[in-house]
Amino acid sequence: MNIAFDSQEPITVDGGQGEGGGQVVRTSLTLSMVTGRPLELINIRANRNPSGLKRQHLTCVQAAAAISQAETNDVRVGSSELQFTPGPIKSGDYRFDIGTAGSTTLVAQTIALPLSMTHAPSRVSIRGGTYNTMAPPFDFFQTSYLPLLRKMGFGIHAQMASPGFYPKGGGELDLRIQPFVNLKTLALPRKAEWQKKAVHCILGNLPKHIAETEIATFTRKLGWGKKHARTTTFHDCLSPGNVLMAELKSEELTEVITEFGKQGLPAEKVAAKLARTTKSFLESGHVVGPHLADQLLLPMAMVVGNHDETSNQGLKTCSFWTGPLTEHATTHIKLLEQFLPLQVQIKEHDQGTVELTLSPAPQ
Ligand code: ATP
Repeated sequence: MNIAFDSQEPITVDGGQGEGGGQVVRTSLTLSMVTGRPLELINIRANRNPSGLKRQHLTCVQAAAAISQAETNDVRVGSSELQFTPGPIKSGDYRFDIGTAGSTTLVAQTIALPLSMTHAPSRVSIRGGTYNTMAPPFDFFQTSYLPLLRKMGFGIHAQMASPGFYPKGGGELDLRIQPFVNLKTLALPRKAEWQKKAVHCILGNLPKHIAETEIATFTRKLGWGKKHARTTTFHDCLSPGNVLMAELKSEELTEVITEFGKQGLPAEKVAAKLARTTKSFLESGHVVGPHLADQLLLPMAMVVGNHDETSNQGLKTCSFWTGPLTEHATTHIKLLEQFLPLQVQIKEHDQGTVELTLSPAPQ
């Protein structure tokens, strides 16, 4: 691996900046591992109540420390400071257990890119939640996020051995990671041309009439036929769960828009909410939705930072169009610019379209 930006300079990151949540912890860990820069993280999750590390974030720290043979201070749930000095990243077979329904996909996102920088394959199993509100649901991770990473050259594949819902979790996400080859930029169009629109309902230990109501309500509100509607039912989950997802497929990518059911919330309301979000995303004409936008920034920064000195190719530039930036995205951009000599140019176009371009900072 040749991250052109390599610098061993220690870095201090304020965990309360921007979004001030778990994302600052995860992105800082990943960037510390891929650059080799020792990290001091202060004010961890200062914008959350309670602040400090939760189980999911602690598992991210432990997983990052395991794969990069890092030295850390004594961190636990509630810690608000972390010292993290990474060593070389080591491929291998790993198992991590969050111990709650904390998001397995967020733990996976912390360590998958660094593991892909080694010279041998890895396998990772993570136990916890696979469908969490405010985190990438497994289907988004598998069908939207990872295929784009593979297009960039990161050989990362995921399977869900079992689903995990809040509060008990008990899900399992398995990763297979190959060393990356020929990292390249992604070419995504400015406007979406969706070739297939489908709705998928997931039920864990719940009766099928919930899925029937949600699918009927959603397809009626959007005027979609039921031809591309499906239900997946899981039995024997530790906690019950319901997820409704709109899947939009174009030649270049799949977007997955998600709504979660919860006890006491009528199925019609779950479907109506998803219908509103989906309709407004379709009307925007954007290809990359708000969640994908914030999650693509880190792998794209690695593409920009990796250049092959044996070829005569210059440093790369990555760009894509999306809608108005979320605070997650702007926080991500600030972190990338803190860690790496790259710049992210933000150009605002008409109708809320934003063009993001990542390129090496001028020398
Ligand atoms: P905290 O408890 O501190 O808020 P967290 O670690 O659970 O932290 P965030 O820091 O808020 O979470 O980050 C959540 C991440 O999950 C973001 O990258 C966001 O884009 C992603 N995310 C949230 N909801 C979805 C969704 N429906 N689909 C895809 N990604 C999602």
